[in-house]
Amino acid sequence: MGNVLIIAQIQDGEVKKATNSTVTFATEVASHIGGTYSILALGDDLSGQSEALAALGAQKVFLAQADGLDNALAERWAPIIEKVVVDGAFQMVVSPASSTGKDVLPRLAARLGAGMASEVVQVAFNDGKLNYTRPMYAGNVNGTVVIDTPIEILTIRPTEFEAFSPTGASPVEKIDVPQAPEILGKIEFLGFEKAESTRPDLAEAGVVVSGGRGLKSGENFKLIEDLADLLGGAVGATRAAVDAGYIHNDFQVGQTGKIVAPDLYFAVGLSGALQHVAGMKSSKVIVAINKDEEAPIFQVSDYGVVADLFKALPELLEEIKKVAK
Ligand SMILES: Cc1cc2nc3c(=O)[nH]c(=O)nc-3n(C[C@H](O)[C@H](O)[C@H](O)COP(=O)(O)OP(=O)(O)OC[C@H]3O[C@@H](n4cnc5c(N)ncnc54)[C@H](O)[C@@H]3O)c2cc1C
Repeated sequence: MGNVLIIAQIQDGEVKKATNSTVTFATEVASHIGGTYSILALGDDLSGQSEALAALGAQKVFLAQADGLDNALAERWAPIIEKVVVDGAFQMVVSPASSTGKDVLPRLAARLGAGMASEVVQVAFNDGKLNYTRPMYAGNVNGTVVIDTPIEILTIRPTEFEAFSPTGASPVEKIDVPQAPEILGKIEFLGFEKAESTRPDLAEAGVVVSGGRGLKSGENFKLIEDLADLLGGAVGATRAAVDAGYIHNDFQVGQTGKIVAPDLYFAVGLSGALQHVAGMKSSKVIVAINKDEEAPIFQVSDYGVVADLFKALPELLEEIKKVAK
């Protein structure tokens, strides 16, 4: 039996869908070994989120509220989580593999002397142990690992677990937040630069339209944006497009960018390099437009259009507009 502590992902005052996916992961763990899950949220003021968190079927929701906690610094968050883990005798801590999760949880694991598996995409139970599957070598192989320490620390890929639908109302407890550790005197949060967009969040969008180096300029990315807007989707990009300055790096999809799994993914003027595919191959339907019929992206596509994007995209936009009328 294992009791799981989930670290909630809250952004712009909203409990992100990734938290619901992490709950699904915890229910899968419980289906193998029994036990319950609780949720811990950290922030300056969580009064606006406690109801949404309490609807996630947890044994308990813990709220850690103190000035400055909205800006997740691993040095500040890890001791707070550690106290909840120790006081509540939790055997597993899990968070989405977001930038925050990837930053905070390794420090937590080190503090607790606990083993860690990151970016878990599947959990199974064999020979009396939980087995975690995680991509390795840029998604080229899937490794299966077990953790042998009494406490297990995990980040999971939210795109691989359905979002849990809210159920009842859990009890909510505000916890005493320990003093900030001394190391914070040497570390300062300077600011958070966010690319403003009226489009849906790339990591959660149902449709993603991504462009690559084939777009040839930032201005031409307007074609990608137009298609995304027609379909109510988000815009994505390859690292080559980001490096060339066509678009902000917030939009990068791939191994070192965002991991996405929309219902529909358009890959336009991008080759389908391993590191890009690692971030989008779980998409339900993949449509590629590329003038090179040998481009590797066609190997992972459901629909492939061998064409010049500057001809194909305007035609596609016209056709969609006709249907949408
Ligand atoms: C450690 C590491 C991490 C990385 N992480 C990432 C990552 O997270 N995400 C990522 O994307 N990349 C990542 N990369 C880079 C990756 O290896 C590729 O270099 C990159 O994805 C290529 O981008 P691209 O497909 O836009 O460019 P290219 O490979 O240059 O492909 C451009 C494509 O556009 C097509 N094209 C050109 N003109 C037209 C036209 N007019 N019409 C139609 N098609 C056209 C070409 O046929 C070609 O296939 C990483 C690399 C490393 C080493």
